[in-house]
Amino acid sequence: MKNLVFVIHKHKSKNLHYDFRLEIGDVLKSWALPKGPSLNPKEKRLAIEVEDHPLTYIHFEGEIAPGHYGAGEVIIWDRGKYTFGKTPVLKQYETGKIEIELKGKKLKGLFNLIKLEKWGGKTPKWLLIKKYDKYISYDEIIDTMPFSVKSVMV
Ligand code: MN
Repeated sequence: MKNLVFVIHKHKSKNLHYDFRLEIGDVLKSWALPKGPSLNPKEKRLAIEVEDHPLTYIHFEGEIAPGHYGAGEVIIWDRGKYTFGKTPVLKQYETGKIEIELKGKKLKGLFNLIKLEKWGGKTPKWLLIKKYDKYISYDEIIDTMPFSVKSVMV
């Protein structure tokens, strides 16, 4: 099983949100999470699919200048490898159900991304859901672990 990379950017633009990005093929497939990720399996977090980003964006942390799209501070809130099951992750993406195991510094364990069929178009809506395993938590990890994993040791 190949280890691919995921990254979550905490993006303080006009509205604070988290950008969840998965290495799929030769790009980062990306979803904006208005409420961020959760380790609580009862929380189904909205994930709005946004434009692909280049793989080099895995390392990006900094300020998007005023006047540019998404202006504001971006930190690497979490980063690590992820794995998936027998079905290639691109195929899973295309069928609208992605089952992955995250091995980040903060997010660990099994997650599903489920596409909501009725929301097509350019910005399809998905749900990010933590599956039950030993990594679940009912604390809000975005509050208990707010800092960058790049510029701050966690
Ligand atoms: Mn963003």
